[in-house]
Amino acid sequence: MEAVDARGPYDDENIFAKILRGEIPSTKVYEDEWSYAFEDINPQAPTHVLVIPKGKYRSWVDFTESASAEEIAGFIRAVGAVARELGLEDDGYRLLVNAGKNAHQMVPHLHVHVFAGRPLGPMLAGGANG
Ligand code: AMP
Repeated sequence: MEAVDARGPYDDENIFAKILRGEIPSTKVYEDEWSYAFEDINPQAPTHVLVIPKGKYRSWVDFTESASAEEIAGFIRAVGAVARELGLEDDGYRLLVNAGKNAHQMVPHLHVHVFAGRPLGPMLAGGANG
């Protein structure tokens, strides 16, 4: 699979749009009016959850430019609720958002990765020049 461009029109056929429509199964972790959270199919840590807004947004820039204040507040709160409800605060957790090709964004629907359950290492592998 190729990394996607974070810009341009929203693709209604992306995998997470299909998950939101119930056309592809997912293991739900959390849901509210604004957001849906589910287990990553290829976990990189003992806990690896994806939190997505229910609205059609490709990236962080798209979301923060186009979403309503209610949607933004609701989504940010949902990420916090996932960390709290999964009991991740004691040992810690990491949030990560990929946007565009250098970040290896693979799915063109905004998602926040929540990683936890083991020491997660330095922030990025490889230092400034990879
Ligand atoms: P990113 O590289 O930030 O776009 O991350 C996309 C993530 O989506 C990867 O961690 C994949 O393992 C995950 N993923 C892809 N398809 C599915 C799926 N059907 N259910 C759950 N997670 C998925």
